Amino acid sequence: MQALKYRNQWDLSLEEVNNLHVTTPYDVIVAVAYCGICGTDVGIVSGEYPVAVKGVTLGHEATGIVAEIGEKVEKVKVGERVVINPTPYCGKCRMCQTLRINHCQNKSGTESGVSYDGTFAGLYKTTQDFVHVLPDNVSLKAGTLTEPLSCILTGLRKIQPATMTAYSYVFGAGPMGLLYVWALSLKGIVPVLIENSPLRLEYAKNCLPNGVKAYASLEAAKSDFFKDPNAPVDLVVDTTSGLLEVLYPQMACGSTYVSIGLKNKKASINTMELADKSLTIMGSIDSMHGSFIEAFHLITKGVIPVEKLVSHTYPINEFTKAFAAIGCNLNQNQMTGTTEPNCKVLIQIGDYHD
Ligand SMILES: [Zn+2]
Ligand SMILES: [Zn+2]
Repeated sequence: MQALKYRNQWDLSLEEVNNLHVTTPYDVIVAVAYCGICGTDVGIVSGEYPVAVKGVTLGHEATGIVAEIGEKVEKVKVGERVVINPTPYCGKCRMCQTLRINHCQNKSGTESGVSYDGTFAGLYKTTQDFVHVLPDNVSLKAGTLTEPLSCILTGLRKIQPATMTAYSYVFGAGPMGLLYVWALSLKGIVPVLIENSPLRLEYAKNCLPNGVKAYASLEAAKSDFFKDPNAPVDLVVDTTSGLLEVLYPQMACGSTYVSIGLKNKKASINTMELADKSLTIMGSIDSMHGSFIEAFHLITKGVIPVEKLVSHTYPINEFTKAFAAIGCNLNQNQMTGTTEPNCKVLIQIGDYHD
């Protein structure tokens, strides 16, 4: 089978490796159909998120077809369409039993596609607890958004604004920003989306929930959406990693700042104001107890139309083009601009077309 390996910074290689087979009674082998490129993958390639193990197969946002099952597997059958939960946990250790499954002490690393082999590959090996059968009405493409949405629901649980009328801003119209906009809307909050890339902004405008608008700048959002150039800032979701220092002085008393980008940035803030203004600054990553199932529910019940977020799909042998579509230029070893409206880019691995 083919596997897309991380060799070094800016160095990915598509290699022929051995096929995978079941080895324990609860194993499930999935023939991967589609796998999304995540900001994590871009961070690994560009060196901003220096946690991946060299030689690992990248990828963790995948769907596929069950290819082989262990003798005790009852949850899925060979041939069924499934989404993969790439964040395994044992359910038995102290971290798992205290609702911190994302820090399970018995898993072999942080996540599939980071510290052990992931899903940019022909086959992926997991167990029956970490695959979910997709209903017929949900495409394999749409299913790939389950993992990113699960990460957003983890963050959403921590966000407790004082009121649904909070002046709320999501920065960055990539998949994470758009999924936050949708998730906040389900909580009754109406955020504005801010994106300074014209091509990302153009794509995002067709993917928004009712009532939500997108703007090229914070100033435009305040004036046009809130009709007040001095509109307060009650809630910020920053998917860019880089805005805390700029926005901090504008934060209203009792406001919340959520940082979910994985870029290696530093910020300087006044800690007296942090207390004096009752500010909350938090980060969020990964899936938490039950969040993957919640994301699966929101997608399979059609609550969030995630397939709209998929702007491009490339076959795995065109992975260089796929990464370039979101500005990660593997030929020039640098982040560059993009030339087309874009959001979520998928890599197609098998011969599946839905
Ligand atoms: Zn991801
Ligand atoms: Zn555990």
